[in-house]
Amino acid sequence: MTGTYLIVPEHVPQQAAFPAIDAHNHLWNAWERVPADVQVLDACGVAMSCDLTANLALRQVDGGYVYQSSPFENFRRATSAAPKRLYAFTTATFCTPRDQPLFTDPQAFVARTLETLREHVRQGARGLKILKELGLHYRDGDRNLVFADDERLAPIWEECARLGIPVLIHQSDPVGFFDPIAPANEHYDSLRKYPDWSFADARFPRKAELIRRRDRLVAAHPRTTFILPHVANYPEDLAYVSALLDRCPNVHIDFSARLDELGRQPYTARAFFLRHQERILFGTDMPATPEMYRCYFRFLETYDENFVPPDYDGTFSRHRWRICGIGLPRHVLAKIYYRNALRLMPGLRPAYRAACAALKPETEATEQE
Ligand SMILES: [Zn+2]
Repeated sequence: MTGTYLIVPEHVPQQAAFPAIDAHNHLWNAWERVPADVQVLDACGVAMSCDLTANLALRQVDGGYVYQSSPFENFRRATSAAPKRLYAFTTATFCTPRDQPLFTDPQAFVARTLETLREHVRQGARGLKILKELGLHYRDGDRNLVFADDERLAPIWEECARLGIPVLIHQSDPVGFFDPIAPANEHYDSLRKYPDWSFADARFPRKAELIRRRDRLVAAHPRTTFILPHVANYPEDLAYVSALLDRCPNVHIDFSARLDELGRQPYTARAFFLRHQERILFGTDMPATPEMYRCYFRFLETYDENFVPPDYDGTFSRHRWRICGIGLPRHVLAKIYYRNALRLMPGLRPAYRAACAALKPETEATEQE
């Protein structure tokens, strides 16, 4: 990457304009990190953070990581030092290793999932998280891929509606992850560093199919609230995502790990955020560091130009292009930083209020609409 001779003003907010809820993050059972993470949350004015995969740990293996299930109870036990600052989703039973079938007996799998889900919700889980492995890796007993819109899974989404919890489902990935790893690919540097992120191989379904099936799923379960992370995993085409949000009132999005995509189309992104201000959650999906959080605030709150966004792993050393901020008005920032999250997860309100008080009483968010 070459440097730049451009001189433009810099305004880096030290704290979010309102006590924020980071609705997309992962602890991966690394409990020893909690005290340091909470210090970062304090420094940046982040009231709460969600561990989406509270029943999973990561184990490092050659060339990548593998998931390992871990008891959901651990989450509460291990975060007892900061119970008001962290909340959790569960993956319930959607956590088998990639090389093993998700199920051989679909009815038994669904029954086990419902039971696990209810138990985790009793223990405090605020939602169900579905990993991108569904549709890419998970297979049934006949070795066929299990897709998001598989009818056999339908009772699970209906149960989430009954329990009043959202489903955060990750399907597909950046367009470049499905194209060959070559210099012409926008994501060449990242894919060279993490070849595991590439789905260019023909054994994987194409992005268009994953998106089509996911959109079929959310339309088929209008009573269930779906959160589609990473700008519904199609920030390269905001008109598409906008039409999806218009069509499906049960759909919300987060924009975690997509500042790069949004900040390179700031006019379009700003119009998108204004139009869908009720449907967008703040989330980062990156290790908690002050630099990372402040870059998100800078994107949302300022009109700064030509700054470097974090890459998917939260580092700033690789970047594909520089971005511009979208300078959102305060009433929109309030919705995106916390109000929309509290509307979807009203059970978080007491903890959120307590966290705000602990943060800095004078910045405590007001609740009147
Ligand atoms: Zn994530």
